[in-house]
Amino acid sequence: MSARILDGKALATKIKARVAEDVKDYQAKTGGVPGLAVILVGDDPASSVYVASKEKAALAAGIHSLLIRLPADAKREQVLDSVTRLADDDAVHGILVQLPLPGHLDTEEVQLAVPAHKDVDGFHPVSAGKLLLGQEGGFVACTPKGVLALLDEDGIDLKGKEVVIVGRSNIVGKPAALLMLSRHATVTVCHSRTHDLATVCSRADVLIASVGYPGLIRGNFIKPGAVVIDVGINRITDPEQAADLLSGQPKRLARFAKNGKSLVGDVHFGEARERASAITPVPGGVGPLTIAMLLENTLTGARRSAGLGGD
Ligand code: NDP
Repeated sequence: MSARILDGKALATKIKARVAEDVKDYQAKTGGVPGLAVILVGDDPASSVYVASKEKAALAAGIHSLLIRLPADAKREQVLDSVTRLADDDAVHGILVQLPLPGHLDTEEVQLAVPAHKDVDGFHPVSAGKLLLGQEGGFVACTPKGVLALLDEDGIDLKGKEVVIVGRSNIVGKPAALLMLSRHATVTVCHSRTHDLATVCSRADVLIASVGYPGLIRGNFIKPGAVVIDVGINRITDPEQAADLLSGQPKRLARFAKNGKSLVGDVHFGEARERASAITPVPGGVGPLTIAMLLENTLTGARRSAGLGGD
């Protein structure tokens, strides 16, 4: 069996086009545009790349994008001040604090300074609580929301299915578990202390991996016919590891030989593809959906603030 590919990039393009249309509608009704502000502290190269792609996507959708850059040694008060100013700015409907923050800053404190109604990342306890209680009016974290959109797009019905999630982070694993529960799946969440991960995973009709460990999920973890969603994004540079994890993907192996690096997920794609019925690639699977959902959440925030509804 060779699994069909769940094309997150194509779905993200579709969602972004829909958001752009809805932004025009918002503009016609309110005379303004949704605004997204990103706070970037320091000059971590990966963060700068992520922020640039978020800005580009926002602008393309007609969303006003505002980047607040602070030096790596920015004081706690300076960062909190920036958040407060954005919180008070009526033209800003979404505030995103790019992680990771430099070590001297308290990430939780900074994130909590973002008011719940502008927390388009969905990290605020109010949003997390609403998701837990099944209430509307919060923001669902972008990555798990993208995972659900991808499953919906493919017509995968979760009712009664065994969903196994590997990883229990606040931004992916836990909210993904709640979303799957809300769709009546039977959910198991695994983590670093889970015994016999392979056996637990092999029960899954839908397996979601969000670990940050390249190729942790091997072919034998996967029940034949399962749907596999790979959230992990890992950069590899070791040729031996590349030979293993990119086996069965000759074009990617050739690119690795040329560039000396590659992005891989938490799932061994070549092995998993032979057992799954559907699988997300890395890159091009869940990643693009995270940004599309950020735009959707920003529009939702703007619509709510204008009294236009938004769920
Ligand atoms: P975290 O680092 O916050 O959490 C990792 C989770 O994996 C933890 O729950 C940890 O368990 C668990 N874990 C670690 N090792 C093992 C193991 N050997 N067996 C089973 N579980 C294990 O991860 P995130 O969810 O933030 O990110 C995970 C990956 O997803 C990363 O590669 C990240 O880059 C990527 N990511 C991709 C996004 C996208 O847009 N596609 C968005 C967000 C993340 P424990 O809790 O016990 O420590």
